[in-house]
Amino acid sequence: MISVNQAETIILDLIQPVTDTETVDLHNAVTRILATAIKSDLDFPYWDNSAMDGYAVRYEDVTNPPLNLTIVAEIPAGKVPQKTISQGEAARIYTGGMLPPGADTIIMQEYTQRQGDRLVILKAPKAPQAFVRKKGEYYQPGNPLLKEGITLSAAEIAVLATIQVIDIPVKRRPKVAILSTGDELVNPSQPLQPGKIIDSNQYALYAFVLSQGAIPIPLGIVPDNPEELRDKISQAIEVADIVLSTGGVSVGSYDYVEQILKELGAKIAISSVAVKPGKPLTVAKFPQGCVYFGIPGNPVSALVSCWRFVQPAIAKLSGKQQPWIPQWLAAENLQTLKSTSDRETYVWGRLNIHQGVYQFKLASGSQNSGNLINLAQTNAIAVIPRGNNTIVEGDKIMTLITK
Ligand code: AMP
Ligand code: MG
Repeated sequence: MISVNQAETIILDLIQPVTDTETVDLHNAVTRILATAIKSDLDFPYWDNSAMDGYAVRYEDVTNPPLNLTIVAEIPAGKVPQKTISQGEAARIYTGGMLPPGADTIIMQEYTQRQGDRLVILKAPKAPQAFVRKKGEYYQPGNPLLKEGITLSAAEIAVLATIQVIDIPVKRRPKVAILSTGDELVNPSQPLQPGKIIDSNQYALYAFVLSQGAIPIPLGIVPDNPEELRDKISQAIEVADIVLSTGGVSVGSYDYVEQILKELGAKIAISSVAVKPGKPLTVAKFPQGCVYFGIPGNPVSALVSCWRFVQPAIAKLSGKQQPWIPQWLAAENLQTLKSTSDRETYVWGRLNIHQGVYQFKLASGSQNSGNLINLAQTNAIAVIPRGNNTIVEGDKIMTLITK
């Protein structure tokens, strides 16, 4: 059985980032991955302007206050100054207003007194250019601005708007097909007959895929029937970059997934991983590029497998910049955790911040891979490494944020 880290490497090696791009507008750019590096031929600020409500003056006129200047112009933001400031003159100016020719310094309103068109300067500015936002101070034309592969959020979208990029090149979203296998499964809207189980994985995985910025393609429930499963998997690999199926990958008599993948020409890269929960993980690649994850059916195993193994795959596939692998967070462990397994063991709970320090609290109730009830309202998983079977209370534990 391969280790979790080996599985992670194998999975990332199977994935090629998407190359297709599309264009979105500024309202639809959030969470999208920028497809090309962006530069601008504009300066930012676009021109010298005032950082304060106050008065635009010549520095050399105001070094020895108190003194008097004549107010010769008024410059609200958005108006082009019409007058050059000469010796002994000042212009009333507002935040964002263009600096008038001749002036090089702003005096804050608070350090002045005005009587009609006379201005008394009460305090000298610290230096020339005080409270002037200089043209090109933050960005000059042609310099690198936004990198390819970044995830766009509020600040980057503000930059794109500012430089007038309104058709934003982004990577296409990966398509991820989802199917649930099992004779026992029924939809949530169907009556629950004895012996049946509601297909919760379909919805859990749909939500997970959406949260990763990919497009989920829900393909429903497939019974444990090799022909139907073969048809559904064939359909899935036609429409998706990644297929996620749950169930049917254990050693039970009704677990057909791996055999069908082979029959359909896929190369099996992983058959099981030394991880708990989630050991019977099947990962395969089809000749046309689609990567298949056969995930165990137990609801907790399914989500832990998604967080640990599918998340990096979707990240790389999306064309995101590295890191693709999960970013671990050290936390103080609030209870002694024992693992009796020689597999890397994941437990679930809450990561809280207490006096600036992350603390991991195990979810109460059974840590059983079938217990989807206490997985709800957790926000993290924590790892008990192989060969280190106890992490005592107060020790450091490594955690992954799951929401
Ligand atoms: P399997 O991996 O097919 O052996 O399934 C293991 C366990 O997970 C069984 O108890 C199943 O009933 C349960 N299970 C399988 N698929 C799902 C699903 N889609 N939603 C909820 N539970 C499931
Ligand atoms: Mg099954």
